[in-house]
Amino acid sequence: MKYISTRGNAPELSFAEAMLTGLARDGGLYVPKKIPTMSQDDIAALAGQSYEDIAFHVMKPFIGDCFTDEEFKGIIARAYEGFRHTARAPLVQMGPNHYLLELFHGPTLAFKDFAMQLIGQLFQFELERRKERVTIVGATSGDTGSAAIEAFRGLENVDVFILFPHGRVSDIQRKQMTTPDDANVHALALEGDFDDCQARLKDMFNDFDFRDGVKLAGVNSINWARVLAQVVYYFSSAVSLGAPHRKVSFTVPTGNFGDIFAGFIAKQMGLPIDRLVIATNQNDILHRTMETGACTKAGVTPSISPSMDIQVSSNFERALFFAYEKDGDAVSKLMEDFADGSFTISQGAMEWLREQFDSGRASEEETKATITSEYATTGEVLCPHTAVAVKVANENLSTETPMITLATAHPAKFPDAVEEAMGARPVLPPHMADLMEREERQCKVPNQLALLETIIKDRIAAR
Ligand SMILES: *Cc1c(COP(=O)(O)O)cnc(C)c1O
Repeated sequence: MKYISTRGNAPELSFAEAMLTGLARDGGLYVPKKIPTMSQDDIAALAGQSYEDIAFHVMKPFIGDCFTDEEFKGIIARAYEGFRHTARAPLVQMGPNHYLLELFHGPTLAFKDFAMQLIGQLFQFELERRKERVTIVGATSGDTGSAAIEAFRGLENVDVFILFPHGRVSDIQRKQMTTPDDANVHALALEGDFDDCQARLKDMFNDFDFRDGVKLAGVNSINWARVLAQVVYYFSSAVSLGAPHRKVSFTVPTGNFGDIFAGFIAKQMGLPIDRLVIATNQNDILHRTMETGACTKAGVTPSISPSMDIQVSSNFERALFFAYEKDGDAVSKLMEDFADGSFTISQGAMEWLREQFDSGRASEEETKATITSEYATTGEVLCPHTAVAVKVANENLSTETPMITLATAHPAKFPDAVEEAMGARPVLPPHMADLMEREERQCKVPNQLALLETIIKDRIAAR
């Protein structure tokens, strides 16, 4: 099993190498050279199995011979043992043919834990085997950072630095990043927005001296191993609603396009998915791109669903790579244009994208109204990201095909927005009840590459 870059100009890597590398050296993202498939019988055999067993069967064809079956099973078991629901990703019914897939039972209460906990165990295993250490730098719009810190804190072979946009994450998100006191954890509040965080991270990867000097590794959703981990719950949920004998659809609250791209991979593997619906908040660049074929940056407007406040959806490049029939040069050209503000997708590629994905958006008012009305009609308390998706899903329901909407965060992570919409404050689960009282450690940093690199090098040297 080999991985290739979306820009066609970087070495082919194994699963473990692609995982440790993150961003390809040509600036592209790693994708499988060939997507493995599962037969209808293979999929049917997943019914009734544990989440961990389904994870093993779904992910195994992607890892090649990097881990033995026993090793990989151990990694998966350790990754999900800290989740607080035995089903890991339980389904809740919202209406006659509408289901919510609860992905917030992990340690930081957001779906990012599914990928990050796995990647933490994979890194630990691989680095110990290689007797290497790495520096992980991640950019976060809120939830990735805490998930990465929870997954890597205290690990011997890893320093983890998280760049988050100063003043633009919720209090709980910030507290989750700034209160762990492990020496290998560094939360950096960058003066800028999430796209600035992501841009500086890309700059660090493209500064080969720095990259090689600190042994930079990335755990953002550009990391293929994260996408792979997310493929699993598309299978587990679809199978519990009758796949492969019955088709299902998914609506996904989308920011960086990692989660919905995992759904696309599941479909390519043979899971009978009817529609994959991209749901965006008011920062609707993806929805506009799907409607017009032009991808144009418009600046980020902060919303009540901050983890989706994005204009540069990194993983969309992976979809473009398939839309352009794996033409790395064509993708490179689009990305060069995008650096200047916009690119236009060819008619053929656009047709392909519209066959794969539908899209919709929810305004701030619509998001709040959805929290209010779903609470009244179902008793379910939705986080704002989930509410964006439920609003869009409700426009795409059908009587034939069940709709599964991904619930990406626990409502208590965004208490202000939820309280405003339904008049009651959602409470944190008991293990996090004292979060707001814990002491914070953070460092405010300028939006400047050279300074950031110096801070990181100094902190590693001081350890
Ligand atoms: C990260 C995040 C999203 C967006 O997921 P992508 O993979 O970036 O599209 C949606 N909801 C929540 C709560 C998130 O943390």
